[in-house]
Amino acid sequence: MKTGIIGLGAMGGYMALNFHYTEYLHMIWNRSPGKAGPIAAKTGAKVADSPAQLASECELIVLSVSRDKDVLQMVRAIATAIKPDSVVVDTSTVSADTAREAAAILKDKGAHFLDCPVSGGVEGAKNGTLAVMAGGDEKILERVKPVLSAIASNIAYIGPTGSGQACKAVNQLMAAGINQAVTEALIFGQAMGLDMNKVVDIVSLGAAGNWFLDHRGKAILAGEYTPGFKLSLHHKDLSICQSMLKNVSENSLPILEMTLLHYQRLMDQGYGDEDISALFHLKKEQFKQKQ
Ligand code: NAP
Repeated sequence: MKTGIIGLGAMGGYMALNFHYTEYLHMIWNRSPGKAGPIAAKTGAKVADSPAQLASECELIVLSVSRDKDVLQMVRAIATAIKPDSVVVDTSTVSADTAREAAAILKDKGAHFLDCPVSGGVEGAKNGTLAVMAGGDEKILERVKPVLSAIASNIAYIGPTGSGQACKAVNQLMAAGINQAVTEALIFGQAMGLDMNKVVDIVSLGAAGNWFLDHRGKAILAGEYTPGFKLSLHHKDLSICQSMLKNVSENSLPILEMTLLHYQRLMDQGYGDEDISALFHLKKEQFKQKQ
């Protein structure tokens, strides 16, 4: 299945390489041209002149772009040239409404859309071990599963269009809580004068162990916040959660509200492009140690 990918950022760049290793990669496109050249040189994939050209030459088009408006912009561009029965798989994290809008645009052209947000971070994209949460037509998912297996070790069908993104919203809210818990607990441990690398090693093996602690714990202690997952993108995801919550409840969710405020403050201080673990800056600032 001739596969093309649009968006060669932290996630999409590695996805392109994994589609190449499994011999599916045909074409690539990135908005700023600098990112496509090195990947083309490594893989031999053709660099498309435009998203439309890529759509006209590929049966499967994978998107990995930033925000709702970016997905819709790319889908509209693709729709001008897509062949009937082609499949668009969007791995970006956006709202369920955007997924439904994208699916409707492509349906008009006789093409299919699957919302397939991913989890597992840049490491998961690099190792081809992402978790995919899929929404759309299950038969279409079955058709493209062999290709998606290049980037994912787990692919779950969640339900109709938008369900993948709704599942991802659950994931992102949970990730916010984990970030809050890990960064807060680490500052507490530091204040008690513990050897925190030893603490991370042993805590990781017990009931409080988690992916974020394993992959970011020691980097946080070393003051390294290289993304990973950009704080500004997680802020975007939590804003999506907030708007999706309004559709189902009048409640506000404390972790959601608190993390949005914290991230906004960090973005105002210039930390938006750091990893989400940069929340530790704020925990340090807020922690008043007893003299
Ligand atoms: P990133 O490194 O910032 O890359 C974003 C990509 O989107 C770039 O290739 C960028 O092109 C492209 N893009 C943005 N706006 C565009 C537009 N209007 N038209 C065309 N291309 C556009 O972000 P990332 O970390 O790879 O994340 C990509 C998506 O995956 C996001 O939705 C994110 O929430 C999600 N995600 C990220 C992670 C993670 O750990 N990083 C994990 C799971 C899901 P330029 O190069 O021209 O800027």
